[in-house]
Amino acid sequence: MRAWRRLDVRLFASYALVALVVFGALAVTVRVVASARFDDDIKSVAVSGGREGESHNVFVDSLDSALWIALAASLGAAAIVSTLVARRILRPVREVRDATRRLANGHYDERVAEPGELELAELARDVNRLAVELETTERRRARLVSEVAHEMRTPLTTIEGYVEGMLDGVFEPNEEVLVAVGEETSRLQRLASDLAELSRSEEGAIALHVRVVDLGKLAATTADRLRPQFDEKGVNLAVRTGPPLPVEVDPDRIAQVLTNLFGNALTYTPEGGRVEVRANRDHDQATIAVSDTGIGLSPEDLELVFDRFYRVHGPTRPAGGSGIGLTIARGLARAHHGNIEAASDGVGTGSVFTLRLPIARPEHPSGDG
Ligand code: ADP
Repeated sequence: MRAWRRLDVRLFASYALVALVVFGALAVTVRVVASARFDDDIKSVAVSGGREGESHNVFVDSLDSALWIALAASLGAAAIVSTLVARRILRPVREVRDATRRLANGHYDERVAEPGELELAELARDVNRLAVELETTERRRARLVSEVAHEMRTPLTTIEGYVEGMLDGVFEPNEEVLVAVGEETSRLQRLASDLAELSRSEEGAIALHVRVVDLGKLAATTADRLRPQFDEKGVNLAVRTGPPLPVEVDPDRIAQVLTNLFGNALTYTPEGGRVEVRANRDHDQATIAVSDTGIGLSPEDLELVFDRFYRVHGPTRPAGGSGIGLTIARGLARAHHGNIEAASDGVGTGSVFTLRLPIARPEHPSGDG
């Protein structure tokens, strides 16, 4: 019975029990004890030829003694019931407290058994949910540290190899070697700034200075900024903007997201290819679809590319960055209540990355983008 598991119902029942005991004790003592004493006393009053009014005193005395006995019985009952109830309630509370202390000490696998009382069961469930969250965060943190260590190892080993080679006289300290060392150093530098950005985006600690801008215009200006790089590689860049797309965003951050998507499209599209940027409205969302005629993605990689440090490996794939770009980009899109999705018909068929952001509500006047 669900009602019986509620704490308020159980507390009410325990008070009702004490009230019943009081009532019972009063009934018994008044009927048995008081009436017996009254009978005895009234007889002795009659024998001694007592005066008028004495029978009244006899009645009050016997009632008093009955009340004292009833009081003792009710206090006893209250003591027993309250001890039992408190033990029942405090046991799970103590278990929750012990569990939270163990959690605080880093035992994230700690879980509390759900007690019978509904309200306490909810508390236990909340504590368990907290434990799961802490465990996940801790596991992610540990994984991140090992991934970072792994990412740093390759450039550091390369630099160490060159430096030791030069010290041992295997390499001349010529320009070629120094350029190679310089490249690895900038890789480490890029990794450091990507990591700082990643941890900020994962903590949700990026301050967003939002205002209403037109997403289509923002995409067009961002594309224009990157156009020289497209021209240099010989990749055609086309931008198609449609109806106005007012979105309430931090324009710098969304420009950063778009730069990442355009940059990836350029990196993974060979010379002579084509990248198209289309701004559109899809119900209450503004979308920017970046499609390229590049190397494409396999179905398994469509979701994985958003994972930290994930890079698709293959003999013909150009070397990209550290595999954090899309993780940060998606984090930023989600911080704006939007998202990024990837689609591709398969390797070699090009891919489409779509940024979705909610359209700003009409009470906000549209800005200039
Ligand atoms: P990176 O900095 O290495 O480019 P990203 O997080 O931006 O990292 O991308 C992750 C991986 O997703 C890349 O290594 C690449 O293999 C794949 N990828 C991203 N964009 C595209 C694209 N337009 N076409 C094909 N593959 C892509």
